[in-house]
Amino acid sequence: DYLFKLIVVGDSGVGKSSLLSRFNDNEFSESFISTIGVDYKTKNIMVGDEHARLQLWDTAGQERFRTIVGCYYRGAHGVVVVFDVTSSESFANVRNWLYEIENHCDRPSRCCILVGNKRDHPRRQVLRSDAERLAAELHIPYVETSAKTGRNVDRVFVTLSQLIVETRPPRRRTIKR
Ligand code: GDP
Ligand code: MG
Repeated sequence: DYLFKLIVVGDSGVGKSSLLSRFNDNEFSESFISTIGVDYKTKNIMVGDEHARLQLWDTAGQERFRTIVGCYYRGAHGVVVVFDVTSSESFANVRNWLYEIENHCDRPSRCCILVGNKRDHPRRQVLRSDAERLAAELHIPYVETSAKTGRNVDRVFVTLSQLIVETRPPRRRTIKR
């Protein structure tokens, strides 16, 4: 069995909390979701034929002031980097978030996934091809989601967990003779 700490980063308003509440509770709200006092929620999934317990960490809105604290990043196995396909600014900021991850995450091999959220929205500003190009350059997967409809939301967390399993050093096994 695995235990993974997964964190979500990205500009304020891109839908980080919404993605988590869709994934965790299959719920969506049109208003801003404020997270207060809770560090993380847990969810169990299957990765291949193994159980994985995911610790899903959400910010309490500190990203507005660029003051996400070190303990949020510390020990993270996987990072979901979210932008909003209706906001070029949030897309432009993806590189800043990756820079933050480089500086704060202690594991050099931590895994990332790029997520373009709000794909249900008619007023798109970011081309899928541009997002795919950035992800290819960064050697990370790209997934387009809608927390509103639920489209592809599970895929984000399953893909990221698979990636972590694949890039992990092999686990030590007890050798019986
Ligand atoms: P956070 O600041 O990144 O945690 O963003 P929130 O999850 O609080 O969402 C900000 C706003 O975007 C809220 O009004 C949500 O209802 C809305 N929102 C989040 N995800 C989606 C989505 O997939 N589609 C649409 N249309 N709106 C969304
Ligand atoms: Mg939030």
